[in-house]
Amino acid sequence: MKLSRRQLLKTVSFSALVVGIAPRVAFSAPNALRSVRTGLQPGGKTRLVIETSARPSYDLSYGDKQLIVNLSNTSGSSSVQPKLANGTMIKRVTQIQDGTKLQVSCALSGLIDAIDKKQIMILEPNGDNDYRLVIDFASGTGRGINGTATTATATKNEQKTETKTANKTQRIIVIDPGHGGKDPGCTGKAGTQEKTVVLSVAKKLKNKLDSNGYKTYLTRSNDTFLKLADRAEFAEKKHADLFISLHANANPSRDMKGYSIYTLSEKASDEEAQKLADSENAADKIDVDGFEQFSKDIRVALSALQQRAVAELSEEYANGCAKCMNRASIEQQKGPAVRHAPFAVLRSTVPGALIELGHLSNKKEEKLLKSDSHQNKLVDAIVKSVNAYDFDV
Ligand SMILES: [Zn+2]
Repeated sequence: MKLSRRQLLKTVSFSALVVGIAPRVAFSAPNALRSVRTGLQPGGKTRLVIETSARPSYDLSYGDKQLIVNLSNTSGSSSVQPKLANGTMIKRVTQIQDGTKLQVSCALSGLIDAIDKKQIMILEPNGDNDYRLVIDFASGTGRGINGTATTATATKNEQKTETKTANKTQRIIVIDPGHGGKDPGCTGKAGTQEKTVVLSVAKKLKNKLDSNGYKTYLTRSNDTFLKLADRAEFAEKKHADLFISLHANANPSRDMKGYSIYTLSEKASDEEAQKLADSENAADKIDVDGFEQFSKDIRVALSALQQRAVAELSEEYANGCAKCMNRASIEQQKGPAVRHAPFAVLRSTVPGALIELGHLSNKKEEKLLKSDSHQNKLVDAIVKSVNAYDFDV
C-alpha cells in the first residue's frame, strides 16, 4: 500500500518538530533511499535501519516522541514502504523530501535518552544489502535532551571509524546442550545417551562458530545438570544475539527418523510437538521448583509485543536452519521442518530455536548421531544457518 499525500500530511501534522513540508521535486541526488525497517534487539532495544544506495551522510534530531534522520543529497521514494516490526518504539515512519535533503521521520511510542555515537553504525554493502545506517535506542526519560530537540552530527571521518567498528561487531551465540548430569535425556537401544551426543555436537559447534568470528558460550561444558531457567537466563546475561538448544529425539516408533526444529509458542503446532515439549520440559521436574519460578519471572518481563518480535526473529532463524540442514542432505522428520511448542528453555528475550538433531530411537540414526563424521555434518549445517541469519534486523 502506498502512503497517500493525505496520509502523509496527516502524519506530518502530528509532529511538533517538523515545521513544513516541501513539495517533492524531481532531482537527481547522488544517494537514493532503498528501504527502511525496524527490529527489536535483545534487551528490548529498538533498531532503525535505513538502507541507501551510497554511503549516507546524516544528522539526527530528536525530541518529544520523535526521531528524525536527515539524509543529505538523498532522494526518497514512494515505493519504499517501511517494514515495521512488532514491539519496537517506532510506530510510524514518514519520508519528507526537503529539496536535496530527505527526512526520515519516526513517530515514537515514548521518550528516549540522548543517542550517542556508539549507538549508530554504518554498514557496508553485503550480498542483498546496500549501505545501511543503523541506529539503536531504548526508551528513556528524555535525559540529555535539552528543550525540544538535540542534534547529533557525525562527520565523515567519524563515520569511517564507526564503519570499521561495526564490521567487527562480534555476535554472541549461546549453545545449549540439552540435559546433563542426573538427567540423561533419551537413550538409544545401543545405550547412547542424549546428554552425551548433544554435548559432543555442542563442543564441535562452539569451535567452528568461534573460528567463524562469533563469541560463543556453552550453557554447560561437562556432564552437569542445569535447570531450564538457568539456561535461558545464561543467554540473557551474556546478551546473546542467538540461542541454540541442542537435543536428540526418541519415539515409540523405531521407524521414526530425522531432525526437526522448534520455536517457542504457547500453543503447540501439533500433538506430537506438545508431547515433545512436555518431555523436554520434564527435565525441571527432576529438580523441584525451577520451572514455576522461571516462567513467572521471564513472562512478566516481556510484553506481548516483544514476545511476538522475538518469535518472528526465531522463526526466521529456524526456517533458515531447516534450509541449511536440507541442503546438507540431513534427513528431515516427516511433516513440517519447523514446528512450535511451549519449550521452557526458549522463554527469553533472545531469539533462538531448539534443534532435535535426530532420533536415538532409530537404530540407523543412533549410529549416525554417535559418529564424528555425522556430528561434523550437523555442525557445518548449523554454522551455515548462523552465517545466513540476518543479525542486523
Ligand atoms: Zn532433549
